[in-house]
Amino acid sequence: MIVGLGDVVTSKEKRIDFDYDIDLSSIEISGEYPFVDPVTVYGSVEDKNGAFALEATIEATVTTACARCLREVKYDKIMDVSLILTRQIDNEEMDDIIFVETDNVELDDILVPELLLDLDPVVLCKPDCKGLCVKCGHDLNEGECGCNRKEVDPRLAVLQDLLKKRD
Ligand SMILES: [Zn+2]
Ligand SMILES: [Zn+2]
Repeated sequence: MIVGLGDVVTSKEKRIDFDYDIDLSSIEISGEYPFVDPVTVYGSVEDKNGAFALEATIEATVTTACARCLREVKYDKIMDVSLILTRQIDNEEMDDIIFVETDNVELDDILVPELLLDLDPVVLCKPDCKGLCVKCGHDLNEGECGCNRKEVDPRLAVLQDLLKKRD
């Protein structure tokens, strides 16, 4: 959604509220499409004597795969964003200041990157997920597959062979 900063200044309450959905279903991250469901953003842009305070809440349902067993996981992510928008370059360099060049500010361009940067890189279906068997790919949450998964160090393997020969 585009907010006109001039409109914020001339509005009666010196602020414009917003509440809308963004369709991010085409965004792909590492081969996944995390935003099957629409992402909701709401908040306000308020005139603060030349600069503008952007306060927003982002609500997303994230669909991803468990990092261990690859099962589909859906979780709700709610985050608050608090930023200052300004057209003045002489402001102090700060993390939460965004320079805007035009009067019309596309909120999606500011809020979507905030969401993407804040996604958890590793998500588990449950804290004690047992993952997949490295040998046969069986989901170990569903029980043992019977594989011997004790990896033998190649240097130890040589020793093991020597011991076998002695027997
Ligand atoms: Zn899992
Ligand atoms: Zn196995």
